[in-house]
Amino acid sequence: MIYEEMTNNIRSVCEKLLNSNDVEVIVAYRGGGVEGMQIPYFAKTPEDVQNIEWGDRCYQNIAPYVHGLSKKVGILAKPCDARILTQYITEQQIKRDDVYIIGVDCVGMVDENGDPRPGCPDCMVRKPPIYDEYIKDDRVDSLDLSPPASEDGGLEANFERFRKEIDKCIMCYACRQACYGCYCKTCFIDRDLPDWQPAEIDAGTKMTFHMGRTMHLAGRCVECGACEASCESGVNVRYIIKEVTKFIEDEYGYSAGMDPEQVPALLVNKFDDREVGFLGGETHG
Ligand code: SF4
Ligand code: SF4
Ligand code: SF4
Repeated sequence: MIYEEMTNNIRSVCEKLLNSNDVEVIVAYRGGGVEGMQIPYFAKTPEDVQNIEWGDRCYQNIAPYVHGLSKKVGILAKPCDARILTQYITEQQIKRDDVYIIGVDCVGMVDENGDPRPGCPDCMVRKPPIYDEYIKDDRVDSLDLSPPASEDGGLEANFERFRKEIDKCIMCYACRQACYGCYCKTCFIDRDLPDWQPAEIDAGTKMTFHMGRTMHLAGRCVECGACEASCESGVNVRYIIKEVTKFIEDEYGYSAGMDPEQVPALLVNKFDDREVGFLGGETHG
């Protein structure tokens, strides 16, 4: 019932937008995916909006569809999508004026069994940080949200855990492809000068990939969980990215995708930065 009401509100906003020709297309969701999934949908005419659906199976991030676009588009944005859009604006990948954001509250997404999707249980941002139109879900106000506990087990335990996780990795790059932030035309791991990826993949190569990706996501991860959800091998190295995210929040007061006006942590130069060892243990200076 709640989702039906929200869907109707979303449809009427979208219909108005398309009727007024303010946007050329609206990126949203429709029903009919595998096992009840709600899947990305591009509404181009006022009639199309009747196909739009909002619910707890709209897990896939749709913000990456507008990456690099230079025409005016509308987009239905749950908080993690709105954070991605904010990051794209901050990183000058899209212009704020080119996106009309229909922000929607989110109580969390579930899979076909009703279990929470990766990222959602830990998600602390349930209201879209930016929007042009806002669709409220009253249930969000009574959610009991507490920050996830640190998973830092100390240097040796961290290393052992990392080694076990990457043992499962087959270097398929699904995690990279699923991440909004991995939009480089050529990923560092695919470059051959230097050759980061020898013909025979060993643990060192896998570590290089995952550590490199972690560093490239420093202060940029919006904690959507898409990387973890996309891994068919069950590798979970997102806990490392989470630690880096926490470090950036503590040291720089910066949370990715919350404010397009805030200077990103990676552009801040502080001479008194703490230097923390990658896997947690050593602290220099
Ligand atoms: S990560 Fe947060 S905003 Fe995104 S789907 Fe999960 S609960 Fe919703
Ligand atoms: S972690 Fe999973 S998705 Fe990422 S490269 Fe390894 S096997 Fe593929
Ligand atoms: S690293 Fe994973 S959780 Fe973070 S933004 Fe990318 S896909 Fe989402």
